[in-house]
Amino acid sequence: MNYKIHRGTQEIGGSCVELWTENTRILLDFGMPLVEKDGSEFNFKKYEKLDSVELISKGVLPNIKGLYKNEDPEVDAIIITHPHADHYGFLDYIHEDIPVYMGEATHKLIELSNIFLPQNINLENVCYYKKDEPFKVGDINITPYGMDHSAFDAYALLVEADGKRLFYSGDFRSHGRKGNVFQRFLNNPPKNIDHLLMEGTTIGRGKQISRTEVDIENEMYEKFKEPGKLNLVYASGQNIDRIVSIYKACKKAKKTLVMDVYVANIMKTLSEFASLPHPSSRFKDIKVCFPYFTGKRLKRQNREDLMYKFKSYKVTRQEIDQDPSKYVMIVRGSMQKELDLMENIDGGNFIYSMWEGYLKKKNTKEFVEHMENDKAFNTSIIHTSGHADIQALQELAEAVDPKFIVPIHTFDGDKYKDIFKGQILELKDGEEVSL
Ligand SMILES: [Zn+2]
Ligand SMILES: [Zn+2]
Repeated sequence: MNYKIHRGTQEIGGSCVELWTENTRILLDFGMPLVEKDGSEFNFKKYEKLDSVELISKGVLPNIKGLYKNEDPEVDAIIITHPHADHYGFLDYIHEDIPVYMGEATHKLIELSNIFLPQNINLENVCYYKKDEPFKVGDINITPYGMDHSAFDAYALLVEADGKRLFYSGDFRSHGRKGNVFQRFLNNPPKNIDHLLMEGTTIGRGKQISRTEVDIENEMYEKFKEPGKLNLVYASGQNIDRIVSIYKACKKAKKTLVMDVYVANIMKTLSEFASLPHPSSRFKDIKVCFPYFTGKRLKRQNREDLMYKFKSYKVTRQEIDQDPSKYVMIVRGSMQKELDLMENIDGGNFIYSMWEGYLKKKNTKEFVEHMENDKAFNTSIIHTSGHADIQALQELAEAVDPKFIVPIHTFDGDKYKDIFKGQILELKDGEEVSL
């Protein structure tokens, strides 16, 4: 078995591992970078007009023979670990005959992102895998392990071929709502692993223990119960654990949760895969709002059905404005227009519930400052990372006990040797390894 990490040995995002035997060639993840080579934010807009040949020459796409649309396919499959764009974001460039394996919910989320977000990834040949159910691509055997992560439907992968075993952690944590999944993993880890490719997103952030999603829920509740205030929560519509935390805090504070039609569609779709709060007759304390820009986008795509299906759960701007303290609203910058039209909401709580790094982004910054300065909202940050803290990384590494730990999805590969017992194999992007 041979492999090569195309991107991720010295950075977070753009994960892609090519793995091959004499007869079979696969990719684990095919993500879009989060940073440029100089460390600045990766902005896909700069590149979207270029074709794959130009993008390879600029070092944006990895140089992999038989992967892209303009050539004969020589890659047997691509395996996607979870629905974050830094793991799947370049799939639109691949040859349409190459099978792409992923969880079914991951596929549903990619399709919703195509509609609601500025992304368009058309997949012709999708195969679904399930946790704990091994599948074969040529002479490579793959077993998905369900993991706790801020993305729904996240997996680690055990890859076996030529009598060797590699374990790719994907992105994971232990302090989310599926913390029990992580504990079960520790009790029954894969054995005899030659190489463990393990993410290390948080290593540079120091040794502190992450707060759990339940801690987040409790902190939100303390805010929500303050009398006489509208509570706005700025959170990712695809961070399902977080939406659940917000809902639970909301329920405890006896308020109604307002989600926009984008979040409503996500929760409704994913409720087929897990028991999740979503707009329905079962959850009378969840209402749906229909922001102007989202409506326009759906109209343009002839997908108004995605709005109409929630019309019985509609709450109007005027209703919220009449009694703001009854509501908790999940918001984004594109909803500023609606918020500005409400006259009665000033002085509420604005809870920022995403990675603090995004606060530096122009649009986010302007939205937060507008709510603070022009609407007198009180901002607080209530968030916990989607990634394992150092203790959880150590627990996973000790449980798997591999011959080598290989840093991936990290800016701090050089620190692995100080943190983990056992041998560390620090690779460079594109370096070939034979097991
Ligand atoms: Zn990632
Ligand atoms: Zn992720």
